[in-house]
Amino acid sequence: MSDISIAQSVVLPPIKEVAARLGIAEDDLELYGKYKAKLPLRLIDEKKVAAAQLILVTAITPTPAGEGKTTVSIGLADGLRKIGKKAVVVLREPSLGPVFGAKGGATGGGRSQVSPMADINLHFTGDFNAVEKANNLLAALLDNVIQTAHHPLDIDPRTVLWKRCLDLNDRSLRQTIVGLGGKANGVMRADGFNITAASEVMAILCLATSLPDLKTRLGNILVAFSYTNQPIYARQLHAEAAMTILLRDALLPNLVQTLEQTPAIIHGGPFANIAQGTNTALATRMGLSLGDYVVTEAGFGADLGAEKFLNIKCGYTGLAPAAVVIVATVRALRHHGGATPAQLNTPDLARCERGFANLARHLENAQKFGYQPVVAINQFSSDTDEEVALVQQLCRALGVTAVLSTSWAEGGAGATALAEAVLTNIAAGTNRLRPLYAWDQPVKAKIETIAREIYGAVGVDYTAQAEADLRRIDRLGLAGLPICMAKTQKSFSDNEKLVGRPEGFRVTVRECELAAGAGFLIPILGTLLRMPGLPPVPASAGMDIDDNGVITGLS
Ligand code: ADP
Ligand code: MG
Repeated sequence: MSDISIAQSVVLPPIKEVAARLGIAEDDLELYGKYKAKLPLRLIDEKKVAAAQLILVTAITPTPAGEGKTTVSIGLADGLRKIGKKAVVVLREPSLGPVFGAKGGATGGGRSQVSPMADINLHFTGDFNAVEKANNLLAALLDNVIQTAHHPLDIDPRTVLWKRCLDLNDRSLRQTIVGLGGKANGVMRADGFNITAASEVMAILCLATSLPDLKTRLGNILVAFSYTNQPIYARQLHAEAAMTILLRDALLPNLVQTLEQTPAIIHGGPFANIAQGTNTALATRMGLSLGDYVVTEAGFGADLGAEKFLNIKCGYTGLAPAAVVIVATVRALRHHGGATPAQLNTPDLARCERGFANLARHLENAQKFGYQPVVAINQFSSDTDEEVALVQQLCRALGVTAVLSTSWAEGGAGATALAEAVLTNIAAGTNRLRPLYAWDQPVKAKIETIAREIYGAVGVDYTAQAEADLRRIDRLGLAGLPICMAKTQKSFSDNEKLVGRPEGFRVTVRECELAAGAGFLIPILGTLLRMPGLPPVPASAGMDIDDNGVITGLS
């Protein structure tokens, strides 16, 4: 059965009933139809935030299909509820890029899904649209200033950093020219689009702690330079208030539910390869205010999502996970052991054992952050008992518990063992977040620490462009910001072909962008792009909607 047909077959109660079980009055809900609601920020209760336990779900280096972090996160929350705990799952909103591109949506899979899956995967409550509009309003205001003769800001159009954005995979928009058509139609200049998930506005929405903080951060966006090389910030364009108005509703976390009626908060959606890769800080706080155990996901492998979660999100919010779960699949271990795409579903003990080196590095990395991780083996139908036993044995040899999760096939009942293991792990009381670097270290030292300690690189090279970018960051007094690496999710290195546990490699910082509003520096490793393209056969080709409006092929 496909994900969408499973989702369509489950009858769920209206969201107000899920909210009522959390003690939220109907009056406090901002309903978006019967099954979605926004939650007012006054429901955040800092005492409860401090008392509840946050469980961070991350993964080994993934195959392009994804290894099931979202699926396992949902299953684990359902599993915790099955054994009597008050659990909430907090996730990101899907982007239409992957939905219609290669990977598909982000609402979990099988019996571990959040609902209503089609709504969440498509327009949901309009948050992405609001981010896109706020981003593009800033671009329009900027071009309007450039159009104005003798404007006091004196913006040099060749220095514009701010791009437009669109929530689709559309490579043709990476580099564009705007202002064609003569004097009345703007000043002609090179421009381009990012995918909305890569917009700094999305990053800001996800780190903002309140409406005023959102406004301040939006005002701090660096957009361009003047002819005398002075930085121009969004606040100088008086953009931040109007942008905040557009984002007023988007700032409120969205409440939905899993197929097993576990409360799910889904809010914000930055990717983890080019941004911080985790839902809004407000959604996490909301989850912790409403549940005793909050399961959340950090995007892609732990080298990206978890590193950024622990160094950036925890740094800004003061949150710290009580436990870290690393999702592994036998399929991905075969991949890291050398299996070709055609061989991914073929059982192979030797490849699994070789590929374990990848998982081992992620386990060591979690330990560097002060966590004894729990491994969740997300079971696929092609797994053999021998392969699963091997992974468990290899983990045990490193002192790590690895539990099989069958929640994709069985829902929460397939994750109660994982839930118990996570509770045991928390009860041991040994997990304590240790940030990898201090923000006030020199920028290069921070970058090198991540590259050496997390990726296993032997060194970092900088292009001339990157050196110039770093000098500019120093000049602007922003060297004290944390680092948000932009790197391929397919390898520990910046070369996506190096699977497993590469050794002896160097990484190259090609350029270093500055997200002064969000509050981090973005060294770009390799050729990473902030506007993806579609594959030759995109997921959209397999979708349909019948005469009655019933969708198929969405996953
Ligand atoms: P991630 O969050 O790590 O990117 P997802 O949970 O979104 O991964 O899962 C990626 C895809 O794999 C989804 O389409 C999901 O339905 C599918 N999937 C996840 N777990 C399983 C499983 N155990 N068996 C089969 N398909 C799975
Ligand atoms: Mg996911």
